Amino acid sequence: MAKNEGNQKTRGRCLCGQVEFEIQGDLRDVVNCHCSKCRKFHGNYGAYTSVKFENLKFIKQTGLKWFKSTTDETDNVRRGFCSECGSSLFWHPEDQPNIAIAAGSLDSPTDLKTIGHIWCSQIGDFYAIKDDLPQFGKRWSD
Ligand SMILES: [Zn+2]
Ligand SMILES: [Zn+2]
Repeated sequence: MAKNEGNQKTRGRCLCGQVEFEIQGDLRDVVNCHCSKCRKFHGNYGAYTSVKFENLKFIKQTGLKWFKSTTDETDNVRRGFCSECGSSLFWHPEDQPNIAIAAGSLDSPTDLKTIGHIWCSQIGDFYAIKDDLPQFGKRWSD
């Protein structure tokens, strides 16, 4: 988990720079989501950190668009992307305190590491998980 002490911030941006943001506070380590919706959205599985929504501040959001991404369980999820360059950036369950941020959008070094896999029940048939990290069929459960 990356911690931003004091005024330290983690920055991120889309490919073209029309969406730029910074994060204060803690970032969760990275969880890979293999669900079919994340795979459509990102073109591959989604690799996400997660932060408190209130700790995410936009520096620039001229390109930012939100897509309502309903599931069987909730219609309160929206996915954020850049309408200029197409970068897939956010997964946001609006009734929850956290927002998931695509780890690839963060500036290096992130000080994060990958800690596991979720929604392995929907994994793509063209790749395999080759690490020993925990795998869950659906959500993360302890
Ligand atoms: Zn962009
Ligand atoms: Zn997913």
